[in-house]
Amino acid sequence: MEINIVKGTHDVFDDEARGFDYIEMVLKAVADLYSFNQIRTPIIEHTELFTRSVGESSDIVRKEMYTFLDKGDRSITLRPELTAGVMRSIVLNKLYATKDLPIKNYYVGPCFRYERPQAGRYRQFNQFGVESVGVTSPFQDLEVIMLGYDALRYLGFKKVNLVINSLGDKESRENYREALKNYFAAHIDEMCSDCKERFNINPLRILDCKVPSDHELALNAPKMRDYLTPSAKARFELITKTLDDYGIPYEIDDSLVRGLDYYSHIIFEFHYQTESGVDVGAIGAGGHYDSLLSEVGGPELSGVGIAFGIERLYAVMKEDNLLKDTEVKTDIYVMPIGEKAIEHAFSLAQVLRANAYRVEVCLENKSFKQLFKRAEHVNAQLALIIGDNEIANNEVVIKDLHTQKQVNLPLDNLLSTLDMMFNTEEEKHHGHCDHEHHECSCHHEE
Ligand code: AMP
Repeated sequence: MEINIVKGTHDVFDDEARGFDYIEMVLKAVADLYSFNQIRTPIIEHTELFTRSVGESSDIVRKEMYTFLDKGDRSITLRPELTAGVMRSIVLNKLYATKDLPIKNYYVGPCFRYERPQAGRYRQFNQFGVESVGVTSPFQDLEVIMLGYDALRYLGFKKVNLVINSLGDKESRENYREALKNYFAAHIDEMCSDCKERFNINPLRILDCKVPSDHELALNAPKMRDYLTPSAKARFELITKTLDDYGIPYEIDDSLVRGLDYYSHIIFEFHYQTESGVDVGAIGAGGHYDSLLSEVGGPELSGVGIAFGIERLYAVMKEDNLLKDTEVKTDIYVMPIGEKAIEHAFSLAQVLRANAYRVEVCLENKSFKQLFKRAEHVNAQLALIIGDNEIANNEVVIKDLHTQKQVNLPLDNLLSTLDMMFNTEEEKHHGHCDHEHHECSCHHEE
């Protein structure tokens, strides 16, 4: 009997696995440009870490966590996001005392949320993110927003929508919370049960409600921007002005509150609509936080972070053909003709791999037709064919699978011939050679 995959999870293989690798590689390279270092934290953490950081009023903590008691009766949770774990690590490893500030980390890995599965929404999904902790300057926030913007451009996105809002400082939020309570008090009886709960724990969350009638009411609610203290307002204005100066387009959305409780000041989301109109929700999101580190036992240091959803990036990039370079590519397909040639093909493949060629070899007795089909499936450039005659003559047939030209070659000349062929290919692709000009004998077209 087949065993089903767990609802909301998915296997990632072939094109999708290569796509994920490519996306992660680009994101890591951009994080590196901005001087972030990798951190790997455990997938399991004490439940309390998330209740204290992500927050009791968030949907994540209220309904979406994978929480269980381990054999020692400890309450353990599969991480729903990685920021909390990074903060815990900074505190436990005393990084705030031993490193220069800000502490700049990037991470990549799986997260778990018991959400209703739908397009772009899984119960196990992967996030790539960065956290910069320890500097209060709004330029620190800008650095992370710009990293996010650059990352999307390096991934090939031509237009993304950056949506921002400010949640202000503590005082701004307390004033705003009061204003929201006054406004919603008259309507709360007709609102959904979630909103009734939100009204008591954190009325800001009501602004995020997806129930149409509640959403309608939220549209007319007081706006956060009218409750920002002068310093919070000035901070937000400096950020919007700098985004203007750098030509980064953005939209201010008064109803943006984000699903996690720890944010203050700037919060942001990157959205993208594919050419055919597909929208999987935010592809990346983040914000500034003031008391997250102290909430998990560290000093009062503020920080800022962003997280991208790898599945969502992949979905929209695939749709809009931004993953062309991630096709499978093989340099050489080694083809044995007849049972006896298999051992020779096997050892030839090992020699070629030791010389850094990407090689696939057929280790079964297959017809010519089947062998060429397989070479096509792995997108091979060259085929090396070995049969009884070639073994007897210490030769191999080398066939260019694009031009279909083929020649017999003594085995002794194989590596030097391949080196020549592949170097020429490289030059064709890159349009230049690596030689210094004075010693270069290549013919450049100007
Ligand atoms: P969040 O931690 O909620 O701010 O989410 C950050 C990013 O993770 C989002 O912008 C999405 O791209 C991605 N994401 C969040 N939840 C899911 C999910 N259930 N399935 C897939 N991706 C998700």
